[in-house]
Amino acid sequence: MKITAVRAKLYKWTGPVKTADTIFATPVSLLPFQKDSQAAYRFFSWLVVEVETDNGHVGLGNAGLCPDVCKQIIDTKLAGLLIGEDPLNSEYLYEKMYRSSVAFGRKGAVLAAISALDIAIWDIKGLALGVPVFKLLGGRTKEKIDTYYSRLYTRDLDSLQAEAAYYKSQGFSGMKLRCGYPLTEGKAGMKKNVEMVRVVRETVGDDIEIMLECYMGFNFSYSRQLLKELEPYNLRWVEEMLLPDEIHSFAKLKQYTDIPLSGGEHEYTRYGFFDLVQAEALDIFQFDTNRVGGFTEAQKICTLAQVHGIDIIPHGGQMHNLHVVMSSFASPMAEYFPQTEIEVGNEMFWYIFDGEAVAENGKLQLDDNKPGVGLTLKTNTENFTIIE
Ligand SMILES: [Mg+2]
Repeated sequence: MKITAVRAKLYKWTGPVKTADTIFATPVSLLPFQKDSQAAYRFFSWLVVEVETDNGHVGLGNAGLCPDVCKQIIDTKLAGLLIGEDPLNSEYLYEKMYRSSVAFGRKGAVLAAISALDIAIWDIKGLALGVPVFKLLGGRTKEKIDTYYSRLYTRDLDSLQAEAAYYKSQGFSGMKLRCGYPLTEGKAGMKKNVEMVRVVRETVGDDIEIMLECYMGFNFSYSRQLLKELEPYNLRWVEEMLLPDEIHSFAKLKQYTDIPLSGGEHEYTRYGFFDLVQAEALDIFQFDTNRVGGFTEAQKICTLAQVHGIDIIPHGGQMHNLHVVMSSFASPMAEYFPQTEIEVGNEMFWYIFDGEAVAENGKLQLDDNKPGVGLTLKTNTENFTIIE
C-alpha cells in the first residue's frame, strides 16, 4: 500500500455565529489597553486532511490549531514527505515529518499539521486492517467512556445555574466552567470568579465534579490567591492558570494547594510532556491528539503519564481523543463539547464530520466494528466555503 495523494482542506464557516455572553480570561486579558481579549482565541475555520492510498483508502485527519497556517505547512512542507510511502509505517512517517520540520517546528502549528496527517495515517491503518483505531492502540480498557460537560461560558449567574442544572439532569457527572473575569478586574473580579464556582456547586450538589478553566489568563500571585479562595468548593481540577511555558511557576503553585492542577492542551510532543513530568508541574495532562503529534505521540505520552501517576484527560473530546481514552488506563474520562450553535469555534467539528460520538447519560461509546477513526465528511456543506 502506498500514499498517492495528500489534500489539505480549509473549511471556513459562513453560517450564523452566536457572539453574546462568552467572556472569559485569556493570555491577552491581563494586558492593558485590550478591547477584545478573546479575539485571538476565536476561530471559525477548521483544517481537514485527506490522505489517499493506491488501493482506494482515504484517511481523514484534522488539525487543532491555526487552520490556515496548517494548510500552508502541509501543502508546502509535509505532503511531499508522505507521497509514495506505506501508511502502515506510521512510526517512521511521524519521525520523518517531525525531523524534517524541526528547524522551524517542534511545537505549535507545525505539530498541529503533523498531527492531522498522523491521525489520517492511523485512520488508513484501521480502514486497511478493518479495525477501529482504539484496537490498534491497545483495545478496550473500559466499558464506556465517562465524559464531563464542557461549556458554562456565561457570566450571568441565573443562566449559569440553569445550564448546570440541565446538564446534571442529562446524566453528566462532571462539568467545567470558565473564569469570566480577567486579572485586570483585580480582587473584585476574583470574587466574582469564585462566586460563579459557588453558584454552580450549590446548583449541582456535592456528587458532581466541577472543574474551572482559566485559559492561561492569570499570573502566579493571582493564581495562588484564587486557589486559596476556591478551596471550599471541592474542585476536580483548575485548568491552565498560567502560560504553557511557565512550567516552574506551575510547580511552585502546586506547593500551595491541594486542588489538582491541569494543563497541557498547548504543549506538544513527548519532549514537552517529559519536561512537565520532570518539573512535577501538573496533576492532569490535557493534550489534544490533533495538536500534540497525533496518535503516534499521544500513545507515548500516555505511558509517560501512567508511570508518574498523572491522569490523561484530553482536550476537546472528538473521535481522535476518544480512541486514546478508550485504549489507555492512564485516561479516566473525556471532555465533551456539546453540539450547539457556533459560538467560539470549538463546536464546529459537529458540522464538518459525521460519526462523532454523542453522549448518552453522560457516557460515550465507541463501535467495536467501525474501522479507522470512524468519521466521514458531511455531504451538506452549505454553511462552509471550502478552500483546497
Ligand atoms: Mg482547556
